[in-house]
Amino acid sequence: MITSINNYERIPGQWLTIETLHAPQLLPQLQKPTIIKYASQNPQKGSRWIVTLQHANESSGLYACVDTWKYLNEKDISLDYDLYFLIMNGYGAIGKENSAIFSQRFTSDQIDFNRIWYDYKDNIQKKIPAIQKTQIEQLTQIINNSNPEYIIDVHNTTGNNQPLGFISEGKDEQLICFLVDHIVHSNNIPGSLQDRFAHICESITIECGKTGTLASLHVATKIFHQFIHYKGQKKEDEKRYYRYNDIGRIVIKDNIEFNFYNGQKQKKEDNTFWIREDIEDFNQSQIEPFSLLGHYNGPGLPVIFLKNDQDLTSSYILKDGNKVIIKEMRYGLLFSKNKTNVQNSELGYLAQGKFS
Ligand SMILES: [Zn+2]
Repeated sequence: MITSINNYERIPGQWLTIETLHAPQLLPQLQKPTIIKYASQNPQKGSRWIVTLQHANESSGLYACVDTWKYLNEKDISLDYDLYFLIMNGYGAIGKENSAIFSQRFTSDQIDFNRIWYDYKDNIQKKIPAIQKTQIEQLTQIINNSNPEYIIDVHNTTGNNQPLGFISEGKDEQLICFLVDHIVHSNNIPGSLQDRFAHICESITIECGKTGTLASLHVATKIFHQFIHYKGQKKEDEKRYYRYNDIGRIVIKDNIEFNFYNGQKQKKEDNTFWIREDIEDFNQSQIEPFSLLGHYNGPGLPVIFLKNDQDLTSSYILKDGNKVIIKEMRYGLLFSKNKTNVQNSELGYLAQGKFS
């Protein structure tokens, strides 16, 4: 049978000699979604899965995999469950269409992997490239057959942020509290891996920090180690945790030109939406009521605010002269100055916060 994925029953020997920072050398061998199993000699529990590189520009998890494989092998770690690594989109990461390595979320012949984890027995209307659909179906079958207990899906942001975990509303916090201090409770994104497996096992998404930084590589490696050795510990002192809910996103309207200005410099008097340059400082901190988002001389607002796809712009954003302002006290999440990312997805999120 020709398979559309790679499935290794053990970590390939040559992969264990690659230095962590040379992880991209593996990309030619990761052109299909790739499962690497680290088998237990005596499995007593359901399996655990570490999934990464669903977004081909978010590389920390791949480096952390290479580092973790060496750790497991050198220390001869024995586990009472089967551990699986799944590296999704080496195809998109390798640098196609004259783009650099780790520069795009997916290629022009793909769609976003983290929006297509559907059960295709249901009648899914979305147009999905045949190869990706087959890949998702094969992966889902293998994950389900492994009797999964925990799945973590490790991502990066394009802006600066501290490690952040996403969990479905109402789900048990035990594992997520063991891995991160900042916890977002939100509705699952339809078609996300987290959504697909939330009813089958504990399924969480982690944003480990800004892509391409050593800091986020360290975070990802630490989280992998904690996850591998997690034994259902109770969470530590409540004081450490920051919780967010009721999240919505600020999206820049189509056809609006935007840029980031330095507040010290003269602002341009044109129809560009000039966004404050320190926007990433909003991340995981309190935004005071009537905080400035940016300046816009054009008609109306240059942004919309969406919560569960509902347009709530008038409740959250206002314009005073040419100032675009956030009305309510909120916490910022995942704000980014990466123009492509802002254009394709959102400028950032606003949430309610509770810091215990
Ligand atoms: Zn991502």
